[in-house]
Amino acid sequence: MRYDVAVIGLGAMGSAALAESARRGARAIGLEQFARGHDLGSSSGKSRMIRKAYFEDPAYVPLLLRAYEQWRELERATGTSLLRITGLLMVGQATAEVITGACRAAREHHLALESLSAPQIRARYPMLKVLDDEVGVYEPDGGVLDPEKAVEIYLEQAANAGAHLRFETGMANWQYDGETFIVQLRDGTEVRSGALILSLGPWLQDELAKLGIAIRIQRNVQAWFTPSANDYLAGRFPPFLLDRTGLPAPLYGFPDFGDGVKAAFHSHGELSAPDAVVREIDCARDIEPIVRAMDQWMPGAANTFRAAKPCPYSLTPDGHFVVDRHPEHPRLVLCGGFSGHGFKFAPVIGEIATDLALEGQTSPDIEFLSVRRFSKPAER
Ligand SMILES: Cc1cc2nc3c(=O)[nH]c(=O)nc-3n(C[C@H](O)[C@H](O)[C@H](O)COP(=O)(O)OP(=O)(O)OC[C@H]3O[C@@H](n4cnc5c(N)ncnc54)[C@H](O)[C@@H]3O)c2cc1C
Repeated sequence: MRYDVAVIGLGAMGSAALAESARRGARAIGLEQFARGHDLGSSSGKSRMIRKAYFEDPAYVPLLLRAYEQWRELERATGTSLLRITGLLMVGQATAEVITGACRAAREHHLALESLSAPQIRARYPMLKVLDDEVGVYEPDGGVLDPEKAVEIYLEQAANAGAHLRFETGMANWQYDGETFIVQLRDGTEVRSGALILSLGPWLQDELAKLGIAIRIQRNVQAWFTPSANDYLAGRFPPFLLDRTGLPAPLYGFPDFGDGVKAAFHSHGELSAPDAVVREIDCARDIEPIVRAMDQWMPGAANTFRAAKPCPYSLTPDGHFVVDRHPEHPRLVLCGGFSGHGFKFAPVIGEIATDLALEGQTSPDIEFLSVRRFSKPAER
């Protein structure tokens, strides 16, 4: 059988693209190298932040507005709860990128964003230790997604719409014969398809390297703690991002939704090959720095260590994603380099990847995510 589209890699992006392709009536197959529900890629860890006032670049905002709609549509269609609006607090010096960038995105796109002084943050969240030279922005539309559940729901949606799903089926290589992509599998068999979406997460490294794009795979550790008091329960305390001088990296975290307070450094950890990410946790190296940072910001939150899990980031040179058609193969879509902030976009990336694979074009402006930006002189 020749498929219309083969999606390789069924993490957040691939599962969303597969569900969307099948929903549009395409004969679609999804291949995943690991078991269903595995936690070895970038899409696990119980919680992912979503926000609109995007400090990384206001160009993401139209994609975010679409993603918010799509998360709600998916919940309605499946009767599930995936997105919890909690509000979100970002704190740093007035010149920190998280503050200036969020304000810029909010200004340009007329988004709700509240500026807070240090005393105002302390009054609202007395449990937090805010420094005198810090300020905050509070985004009421900020929230939290459930990543494992979302991926599973997309896989179910894909199967219900007729897609074929195969797990523990790794792609070894692919070729194009002028009409058809021939996906060679590690078990020696092959799959044929008119279009190909490569959503390989960290394992897209080699494919992007062939195009001159070097992505770095970084081991990031997420940790969970039982707090000493109820101050950090969901409802009393929002997800946060703290960009504080002296910390190894910005610290972010989530309130206790029932399984402890979660915290981690954003983009902090050793680099490795995708298959060589160290899975064991070393308390002195992985947990103690997080506890020290939490103690100076949210005393009592890191009272008892519960669990930790490493999760790889795929860092592009500019921190922005790669979502584009392959320069030599218009029906081959590359989807990767999500640089530690891609999950919230999964539905819209799934939609765009499907547009590109099946229609050869998409309407959102994704020039800033193109392959060719890396060969152009920087504009800003
Ligand atoms: C600790 C951590 C915290 C994060 N926090 C946030 C956050 O708060 N908000 C946010 O928006 N984003 C966040 N992110 C980023 C976000 O989770 C990722 O950008 C997103 O999950 C990437 O999804 P993906 O589908 O590209 O990759 P993955 O989930 O890694 O999926 C890729 C899949 O491809 C499969 N694969 C690879 N090679 C092959 C092959 N040859 N054959 C078959 N299958 C293959 C892999 O097994 C894997 O299942 C965070 C990431 C991490 C690690």
